[in-house]
Amino acid sequence: MTYIPSIGLEVHVQLRTRTKMFCGCSTAFGAPPNSHVCPVCLGYPGAMPVMNVEAIRLTVQAGLMLGCEIGAFSKFDRKSYFYPDMPKNYQITQYDKPLCLGGGLEIESGGQTKTIHLTRIHLEEDVGKNTHHAGCSGVDFNRAGVPLMEIVTEPDIGSADEAMAFLLALKQTLLYAGVSDCNLEEGNLRCDVNISVRPEGTEKLGTKAEIKNINTFKGVHAALLQEIDRQTRLVAGGGRVAQQTLRWEPDLGETISMRGKEDAHDYRYFPEPDLLPVALDRAQIESWRAALPERPADRRTRLVQTYGIPVYDAGVLTADRVVADFFETAARLCGNGKTVSNWIMTDVLRLLGESGRTLAQCKLTPEMLAELIQLVERRTINLPTAKGLLPELFEKGGQPAELVAARGLGQVGGADEIGRLVDQAMAANPKSVQDFLAGKQAAAQSLVGQVMKLSRGKADPQLAGKLVAERLAAQKR
Ligand SMILES: [Zn+2]
Repeated sequence: MTYIPSIGLEVHVQLRTRTKMFCGCSTAFGAPPNSHVCPVCLGYPGAMPVMNVEAIRLTVQAGLMLGCEIGAFSKFDRKSYFYPDMPKNYQITQYDKPLCLGGGLEIESGGQTKTIHLTRIHLEEDVGKNTHHAGCSGVDFNRAGVPLMEIVTEPDIGSADEAMAFLLALKQTLLYAGVSDCNLEEGNLRCDVNISVRPEGTEKLGTKAEIKNINTFKGVHAALLQEIDRQTRLVAGGGRVAQQTLRWEPDLGETISMRGKEDAHDYRYFPEPDLLPVALDRAQIESWRAALPERPADRRTRLVQTYGIPVYDAGVLTADRVVADFFETAARLCGNGKTVSNWIMTDVLRLLGESGRTLAQCKLTPEMLAELIQLVERRTINLPTAKGLLPELFEKGGQPAELVAARGLGQVGGADEIGRLVDQAMAANPKSVQDFLAGKQAAAQSLVGQVMKLSRGKADPQLAGKLVAERLAAQKR
């Protein structure tokens, strides 16, 4: 019997706002504990929340990027529970009228394309952070009240790999839209996982377990592999999965039960009386939509069609919006998308990887790359010379044409000049000529190498190859 997992994710994403959801405190990461707090986010009695419209805009824009329907009427609710990191004893969130409904995201996993449908996206405030020290515990409320968007999927995800693909595609989309920094180290993205297994061929979902608060994509993947295995073995052995909430322990590599169904919270949701409902008009939503960039998947398709590059290249180039912008600017300037794509995919991405920098942090511009490519295409310099200049442009910038002129890097001239070098190389290497005439094809390459050496690397290798072949063919006759 084969068992099929059904996985749903609840992804909490910290929005890119300067201030918190309901007060003017800063959202900056890394400040001393309890330095970004005020009566509102500390839950003082009588303090009144004020809605951060920027957080509403970012959530709606995320929803638009993900194909959601934007609710014309939305409201906030109180979710009551006691926990030391939440001083009000309730969290302001959205219960039955979230900002965004439906939507979905296309993923690719194991060579298959699949749409993961979304249930909803709602907006809420984050809680503080408990820290435990020897002999005492502390609470830092700097994070309390920071706007969080919660993206809830349908249980469409069928494996740990698909969950990973979804999270990567989601992160990419949110980065494109500029709604979050998606910085995992700073806890910008955290994930709850719902999972159940059912026998293949059946429709009804099995009893699900929930794994809370995993803060790395690798953690989600590992927790899912482990939990799919645990549930499958349990059900296959005639046992039943208990509905429960689990915690992922990355150091142990296993999930630990936090509470069972009988301990499930009753949150006593009710409408937040201190905030008005949110009624967005169409014109407002459309103006936010107009400010959004193209979706990554649409851009991939367009790059393939516009620049004639392979689907694989388009996938690599659009992984990061800045890289895709760089590519398009350079491709438009030099008119050769495939060549630009080759340069970026091999040399530029390698330099970025080696230096640990982003495109914004290096000196190379799309204009420089386009000019470098044109110098090669016009045969002003040969390809090895161009490749040799790239690391310098990457580090210091500069004008490729000026560098070539100032250093005399221009390709050694026409057929006459290179022809003389070929004669010289053949005269100096009679053994290679004999080898070639005896049937060793590789000897021709060695002669081309000699010509390149004589030209101090500045000859056009193709022209040199052609002339060597001609001369050798003449000797054969
Ligand atoms: Zn505050």
